[in-house]
Amino acid sequence: MITFYPGPSKVYPQVADYAQEAIRSGVVSLNHRSAGFMDIVKETLRLLHEKLAIPADYHIAFVSSATECWEIVAQSLTVTTSLHPYGGAFGKKWMEYAHRIKPMILPGEADVLCVVQNETSNGTQVRMDTLAQFRREFSGLIAVDAVSSLGGLVFDWSLADVWFASVQKCLGLPAGLAVLIYSPDALKQAEIIADRQYYNSLLFIHENIAKYQTQFTPNGLGIYLLMRVLQQIPPISKIDALVRSRAANWYELIEKETTWELLIANPELRSDTVIAVQGSEEAIRAVKTAAQNAGITLGNGYGDWKSNTFRIANFPAIEEWEIDTLKRFLRGYLC
Ligand SMILES: *Cc1c(COP(=O)(O)O)cnc(C)c1O
Repeated sequence: MITFYPGPSKVYPQVADYAQEAIRSGVVSLNHRSAGFMDIVKETLRLLHEKLAIPADYHIAFVSSATECWEIVAQSLTVTTSLHPYGGAFGKKWMEYAHRIKPMILPGEADVLCVVQNETSNGTQVRMDTLAQFRREFSGLIAVDAVSSLGGLVFDWSLADVWFASVQKCLGLPAGLAVLIYSPDALKQAEIIADRQYYNSLLFIHENIAKYQTQFTPNGLGIYLLMRVLQQIPPISKIDALVRSRAANWYELIEKETTWELLIANPELRSDTVIAVQGSEEAIRAVKTAAQNAGITLGNGYGDWKSNTFRIANFPAIEEWEIDTLKRFLRGYLC
């Protein structure tokens, strides 16, 4: 079965071997405070900096999910409240979680701006020039959810203080791990707030990762698989070029060679990593079934767009032959 589901999504095919390797070699049974395990953490952090071109002074830590990152931002980095200029289901969910922890009383008092770079639910993205504008206009910290784009696109990391992603989408790995990236300014803010109330308070996370450790037993298999995948992938600039050219091809194919409509009319807002295609409820149901019968899983719609869209993940782990198979299917399918 070929899958274009935008999360959990297709894993890099090599992950099967890496997982076997991790179990055979005993990596998964290493104590997480042992030298052997700390070496893996250290190398994974080095590779993240190298392959994703993350600035040397930005810190990186491992947590369990992007949802956990939403709470960490609210608990450890937000003084009064946070502002959420959202355009889809994940942005809305983030705001709801954050405001349960730091309720919104006066919007003018917000000291953290929370942006979903790639809104997986409807296939929109916030481009770097928009983020640059936020940076100029907002004086507090900026936190970016990049769950369905980190590992696929080049970012200007300096435009935000916090970036995070769980690994089961654009990074092409099994779920249960997330990468949390934070700037020196974010750390300063955490020190001022001095939250030490929770097991996942950012200061605890930071003190542990400084020793290549984690505050609780981490997903060691996930970290090992991330290390092995990072060793294998090219630098992010190369991946970015591939993802963007594939995205352009997807949009052109949908518009010119099928009778489907794109959910997002404005090309400036369209995501490069998740393509949302719109149709009647009936047509959407039918195409998903027909694709399934042809051995292809399309992504269901999500949230408000659950029944009137299907989604195509454009993540780098997806292979050329799989893309060709779906293209052939869509060209030959009349909706
Ligand atoms: C999937 C997704 C999340 C949630 O990720 P979890 O790993 O399930 O916590 C958050 N934000 C975006 C944009 C997503 O696509």
